[in-house]
Amino acid sequence: MASPTMAQGEARAVFGLPFAEPPGPDTWLLGQVYGNTTGAFARRREWYRAGQGIHFGIDFSARCGTPIVAIGDGVVLKVDAPEHGSAPHNLLIAHPNGYVSLYGHLLERPPLRVGQRVRRGQVIGLTGDPDLTCNSRPHLHLEIRDRTLGRAFNAHRLIDADWDALMLVGAFGRGFQRDLDDPRKWQSVYDQPDIRFGRPLINEFRNTWPRDWN
Ligand SMILES: [Zn+2]
Repeated sequence: MASPTMAQGEARAVFGLPFAEPPGPDTWLLGQVYGNTTGAFARRREWYRAGQGIHFGIDFSARCGTPIVAIGDGVVLKVDAPEHGSAPHNLLIAHPNGYVSLYGHLLERPPLRVGQRVRRGQVIGLTGDPDLTCNSRPHLHLEIRDRTLGRAFNAHRLIDADWDALMLVGAFGRGFQRDLDDPRKWQSVYDQPDIRFGRPLINEFRNTWPRDWN
């Protein structure tokens, strides 16, 4: 398998969206974007510490039971791997281009086995809710990692979609936390940093906005 070694500026949108249906109130909407969102910043020392303090995936709001499709051709790498979080159920697919996609907060264990081939666009699971209620924050959490699983990429740059339009509606806050010492840094979905799991936080800003209450 090839190994993705591209620098941030070279990433190409080689994957598709994780839903067959177009976005809308009856199907799915963009929830929380990847990156140094204000929400992730507030939880940087708790929920997102392992991911260097940023939201290391993309959240898609959808009612429980919405079919999820593979974002590319690949082979099932793991089914229900608790070490990768995103409870109650998750799925990892290894792609021949060297990337791995992770689908989290699934409603039930996907009916797939490790080593099974899947095609781009094939239904691979159903959306669920991390709070197990289906009415608090049902969504798909989608990550794109490297083959070692130690690095997460800015998935907006790897998925072919009109993110500008998708960001116009949805349930979660859209803002990125600002470093007032470098106020233009990381203020769009396109320039959010890749992260390496287990490394130090990258957003312990000295001066920040919105104000840090930690
Ligand atoms: Zn998420």
